[in-house]
Amino acid sequence: MKLCRFDDNRLGIVEGEDVLDVSGALDAIPTQRWPIAPGDPLILNLERVTQRARSLAASATRRKLSAVSLRSPVANPGKIVNAPINYQKHIDEAKADPKLGGGRKLDHITDWGLFLKATSALIGPGEPIRLRMPERRNDHEVELAVVIGRECRKATVENALDFVAGYAIGLDMTIRGPEMPSWRKSVDTYAVCGPWLTTKDEVPDPNNLRLSLKVNGEPRQDSSTSRMVYNVQKLIAYATSMYTLYPGDLIFSGTPEGVGPVQPGDLITAEIERLGRFDIRIASKYDEQV
Ligand code: MN
Repeated sequence: MKLCRFDDNRLGIVEGEDVLDVSGALDAIPTQRWPIAPGDPLILNLERVTQRARSLAASATRRKLSAVSLRSPVANPGKIVNAPINYQKHIDEAKADPKLGGGRKLDHITDWGLFLKATSALIGPGEPIRLRMPERRNDHEVELAVVIGRECRKATVENALDFVAGYAIGLDMTIRGPEMPSWRKSVDTYAVCGPWLTTKDEVPDPNNLRLSLKVNGEPRQDSSTSRMVYNVQKLIAYATSMYTLYPGDLIFSGTPEGVGPVQPGDLITAEIERLGRFDIRIASKYDEQV
């Protein structure tokens, strides 16, 4: 199933070029009192919600996808985990460019470990990216986003995929510079997730998906998740060797080579096989209203 969040927090099933409005399925999410259970409430109750959504689909209002504004399919992730260097050719380009690597050792993913982006940075493709520090390089990074479905501690490579709810396209927007990644990459609007959640039953092998990114129609990144140094299972095992993952936590699994700057007014097109494609605009001014 392809589940999207659109407009004013409506829930949709994506079918071809259409969205079926199944917002009534959100009633399957139990109300909670403080302190709420860790995790995104929809993903925590994903099975109930998708069951209800299926039963509502036949009589649902149909809208054109092109006529709705898509938001991040996960509304409230507890954390956004990121692999900074997980494709060899990106490691090579980072080593060759002091703006990217900053002179630090970066031979292998374990030299850096994983880092977290603030959840307040998260948007969907229907909202614009608002650039901060325009005097610096602001780069695009297209990445496979893994959506965790179940609480997960010390996963193994063998059982890691049991904890996955599904996948989406992630855009890890980045200001280049010497500060910590959690600072430079946590700007409001610098974590894009979309266009929708594709449940894992529709993705037989997450480690063999073509991913690409264009800026104003010009190809910039084009690779395959088969080139990840740590595949999805290994990333989950690595992350959970240090911390618990909860339903709705996102793992941005690293970007391939071809990262580069964007400018105000640019249009980014990101695509991953089986997961769809989205366009997202860079606001022409930080405070531009859209
Ligand atoms: Mn990245």
